[in-house]
Amino acid sequence: MRSVRVEFRPFRSTLYSYRIKPNGAALVQFHAVFRDASDEVLLQAAHLMLCRTRPARRNIPREAYDAFVRAIPPESFEMPGARKESARARPGPGEHRSLDESFQRVNAMYFEGKLAKPSLCWSPRRSRRLLGSYHERKDRVIVSRLFDSERVPIFLLDYIMYHELLHKHLGVGKRSDGRRCVHSAEFRRLERKYIRFEEVLALLKRL
Ligand SMILES: [Zn+2]
Repeated sequence: MRSVRVEFRPFRSTLYSYRIKPNGAALVQFHAVFRDASDEVLLQAAHLMLCRTRPARRNIPREAYDAFVRAIPPESFEMPGARKESARARPGPGEHRSLDESFQRVNAMYFEGKLAKPSLCWSPRRSRRLLGSYHERKDRVIVSRLFDSERVPIFLLDYIMYHELLHKHLGVGKRSDGRRCVHSAEFRRLERKYIRFEEVLALLKRL
């Protein structure tokens, strides 16, 4: 191998990818959260990348990598610059749940019915990594199709709706250093007002 180039990207759902170019140089791309990963995590990820078959992967130590991945908060996948899935989201009814009705419930309960309705879309796929997102420019909420199911409690769907509407309500905050701050202290404070908030967090972890 001639060289290895490592990049960190704000991926929407990918954790890592790599390819070897015809000139022998390797390009490894990690999700941006891996910037904070330990050497052990990166080493285990590298081994996993190199073993492409299932039997080979079975014997690779991967505890540190798995623990790291499990602990990645969902909002890491709604980082500035992340796109892809959102481009293919289209407005339209769900099969089991209604985003419109979810919006009406959440708006009435938490925003005194005063929030203007954004466009509401289900994601094209049942994404477990990106549960929801709000695009300020398009004034559009996207909810993972995972929640369009009778097996997922409706208050979980409403929580995702609430979280994304808070983004609309508060706008994209700026920190004092001018960088984007997606979840401000104020955001976190309001988010906790959601009924059964702790229960929601526990259930989302097990989705
Ligand atoms: Zn968020």
